[in-house]
Amino acid sequence: MNLILLGPPGAGKGTQAKRLEERYGMVQLSTGDMLRAQVAGGTTLGRQAKEIMDRGQLVPDEIMIGMIAERIDQPDAKGGFILDGFPRTVPQAEALDRMLAEKGLRLEHVIEMRVDDAALVERITGRFTCAKCGQGYHDRFKRPKVDSICDVCGSTEFTRRADDNAETVTRRLAAYHQQTAPILPYYRERGVLDSVDGMAEMDRVTAEIERIIGRS
Ligand code: AMP
Repeated sequence: MNLILLGPPGAGKGTQAKRLEERYGMVQLSTGDMLRAQVAGGTTLGRQAKEIMDRGQLVPDEIMIGMIAERIDQPDAKGGFILDGFPRTVPQAEALDRMLAEKGLRLEHVIEMRVDDAALVERITGRFTCAKCGQGYHDRFKRPKVDSICDVCGSTEFTRRADDNAETVTRRLAAYHQQTAPILPYYRERGVLDSVDGMAEMDRVTAEIERIIGRS
């Protein structure tokens, strides 16, 4: 099964994608993670992308379309994938349709996660991650059980995303409303769009997604 989790930054797409990946074996394809790997690797693309990401803007469509086309062709995507952070513009959605048609693949579900802007700013500016195992935490909502020690792997090193500051978050939300939200009617017309309440408790959101994809 191939699906898209669509929603503003901080809606919980990454968290839910990881849960679906663990439970059903579909692979999470996060374009944000792919770009951060390029930045960490110091590649030319990474250097270009970092400037754009730090401004809270979107990386050009051609780059993102090429990146996802290559990723979908990897063997691990054959068993189904969850797109997280792609498509983010109508041209990306159109390119994805063409790409899937060429490969004889179907997009079964597009799931919109709805969250209020005010809640998003608080969610994003407080989040941090274990540098070793990637477990996610939050200053207010999910602190490690023992301060400064990862619950999962015991590491004492944590990272925060460079773009998770109040100023950049505001720009990322504006980009979502202006450039990404227009994708919703695109998928609604195709009859593949469902929405979930992303403000609900994490397990309830997972249960709702499982109901939509027929796995509950
Ligand atoms: P994310 O981790 O999904 O919040 O993405 C972090 C940043 O990477 C975004 O704010 C954009 O600058 C960039 N980015 C990720 N995915 C895309 C995409 N599909 N199109 C354009 N820019 C993207």
